[in-house]
Amino acid sequence: MDVEDTQAQPLPPLNKSASRNSMDECISWFHGKITRDAAEHILDVGGSSEGLFLIRESTSSPGDYVLSLIHNKSPIHYQIRRHGEDAFFSIDDGPIVHGLEMLITYYQENAQGLSTKLNEMCKGQPPPPDSRRHGRTNLLHRATKEGEVTVVRELLKSGYHNLDAKNQEGQTAVHLASIMGFNDILDLLLVVGANPNIRDGSGLTPLHYASKNNEPETVAVLLRHKANPQLRATESGWVPLHYAAFLGYTEVLNVLLEMKCPCHPRSNYNETPLDLAKKNKHKECISILENYVAAPPTSSRSEWFHEDLDREKAMSLFRSEGLKDGMFLVRRSSRRKDIYVLSVVHNSHPFNYEIQRKETFYFIDDGPYLDSLDHLVEHYSNMADGLPTNLVQPIPPGTESLDIPSNSKDKDVENLIYNNVAANVVYREKKTPPKVRKIDPISRPNLIRRESLKLGDSIGEGEFGSVLCGKWLNLDNIEVNVAIKTMRDEQVQRCREEFIREVEVMVGLDHPCVVKLLGVCLGPPLMMVQELVPMGSLFDYLLDFQDEINVHDLILWSAQIAWGMTYLESKRFVHRDLAARNILLSSKTEAKISDFGLSRAIGTGSEYYKASTGGRWPVKWYAPESINYGTFSHASDVWSYGITLWELFTYGDPPYGDMTGMQVIQLLECNQRLSIPEDCPEKIQKVMSQCWQYNPENRPTFKQLYSSFCTDVDYKPLWNFFKCEEEIL
Ligand code: ADP
Repeated sequence: MDVEDTQAQPLPPLNKSASRNSMDECISWFHGKITRDAAEHILDVGGSSEGLFLIRESTSSPGDYVLSLIHNKSPIHYQIRRHGEDAFFSIDDGPIVHGLEMLITYYQENAQGLSTKLNEMCKGQPPPPDSRRHGRTNLLHRATKEGEVTVVRELLKSGYHNLDAKNQEGQTAVHLASIMGFNDILDLLLVVGANPNIRDGSGLTPLHYASKNNEPETVAVLLRHKANPQLRATESGWVPLHYAAFLGYTEVLNVLLEMKCPCHPRSNYNETPLDLAKKNKHKECISILENYVAAPPTSSRSEWFHEDLDREKAMSLFRSEGLKDGMFLVRRSSRRKDIYVLSVVHNSHPFNYEIQRKETFYFIDDGPYLDSLDHLVEHYSNMADGLPTNLVQPIPPGTESLDIPSNSKDKDVENLIYNNVAANVVYREKKTPPKVRKIDPISRPNLIRRESLKLGDSIGEGEFGSVLCGKWLNLDNIEVNVAIKTMRDEQVQRCREEFIREVEVMVGLDHPCVVKLLGVCLGPPLMMVQELVPMGSLFDYLLDFQDEINVHDLILWSAQIAWGMTYLESKRFVHRDLAARNILLSSKTEAKISDFGLSRAIGTGSEYYKASTGGRWPVKWYAPESINYGTFSHASDVWSYGITLWELFTYGDPPYGDMTGMQVIQLLECNQRLSIPEDCPEKIQKVMSQCWQYNPENRPTFKQLYSSFCTDVDYKPLWNFFKCEEEIL
């Protein structure tokens, strides 16, 4: 109940001179849209004590905020990213928190990966209403709740600007009108631009309330004004159709379906509305849901379906069409002919999603079950629903171009490698003010002249651009085969830090089971030159040549990966992305660890690395402490090693099948693990379960894992390969 409900409430204008309540006092750290310099000045005047902070609006990225903070007498600035149009925020790859004030409270309790915890604030104002999870009841809330259409109309006419402000429960006027079923007020609010897609403090949208309160007309008004029927309740993952089916509200169910909401969305626990209707024996709902026939889709396969197109060719096609946001196509997977893949471009980057099947349905990830490929394309054209963008421009089958990376100039590149960006990387990692860092000449990568490189065909598609095979005329004038990781021009801006970081990690590494970096060519385009590992990814090999692989091969590769990881452990590198897809094969008996894009050095005196920047998170390979707290250590790499072994011994099965990340986390917390693959040797089974000990301290080290391969007589055939005794024992 609202605090102010307990008082007598005629509808007076709010007393503007009344002092702010104590909550607003506590969160008066907001300073509006001021520049970085102005923020630093305010912190300086405020005394620059440790943890002194303020929040300001980002000047470069609308909707985002910036945390300016004092650590060791110097200011540091963190981008606070907004997720979607609602008030969800995060800093780097910390948790996504509902409400800016809740996010700040979180970092006031503990540093949680920031350089220091937030301490005293520089006094400003409370944050804007649309950024908060909880606010204060205002005049519009009151008038709405009491059904005062005339007052609401007058308020809106007079330009009342707090349309999306929240009350103590985090509800906006749109929530209140929807809860009460006041459709005329709701319409007034939505016509002037109030947002129908905001969640309240319990994680529910106005459409959730209208559905669970059995208000079909309200549901229709909201949907007409672009309420999103696929937003999930934060806890359960239920969308409005789940509520209608669970409660047996047939009218609401019919309105939702008539207005083209997908009929079989899935909750966080994989339940569909039909499951819920059956559970509660709502016969009429069951019959509606079972007999529902989706309207025929408006787009057809001839516009976007490619019968025979592999990943690399799809990328080339996108590139030749200009890599515009929302470009998409559907293709058959080149590895498994029974699988379709949706490829879509966002921020100049292609994303690939496996389209999965269940009975007659098609679906992506934890999205709704859809009747056909065409319905799937139609659904994701109407809304992004979990994809980075909705599908906008189909790329029809037809001419394909095989472009090679463009040759345009990037003059900054040398600086970028050796000075500025490297300095930034250090700044982000160690949280010290940026300064130009001198790179130790010994650990500098070779600079390779463009003229000494011959670029060949594409052999893979990486995060930053194509991986090509090629030839390098090295310093001894010998032509050697190499792999060349290129960086597309449009990626330079977005990914250079990661690219440089990968170079930095690889430059000092030299081990038979780790892919070797030979040098960097400044191009343009920027290129990383590595030893060629001719047979490519072990994951592809497992899928394609299962019949030619025996258990000894699997054990040999397992031991080699453990050996390479022992080496990385000795260098204090945490890999963070150990998986079969990142192991390459030189020959059938030589596996090498690659892909150091996520790898990090851990500082002396520290046992783990705490992630501070966002990006890809291969959750199914991650240990519980990495998922829950973002901490990575040799022990979390050991967990991923266990998952990699599982991939090997299942010949490339996807770990945890089509479970969502959330379901995997729940399974691990219930102390369950992946089931042991068929015919897996008992010793390997034991290794897997040791690697998946919940407590990182109880997991073996790589050194122990590797020596167990070397000392166990059953693995004697491996001994020659490794000369284990000298190396490790
Ligand atoms: P990214 O880390 O940018 O995603 P990867 O390093 O995983 O890119 O490379 C993508 C693909 O390119 C790999 O799966 C592999 O097939 C191929 N590849 C990468 N490096 C090499 C290499 N040194 N030798 C042979 N093939 C390679």
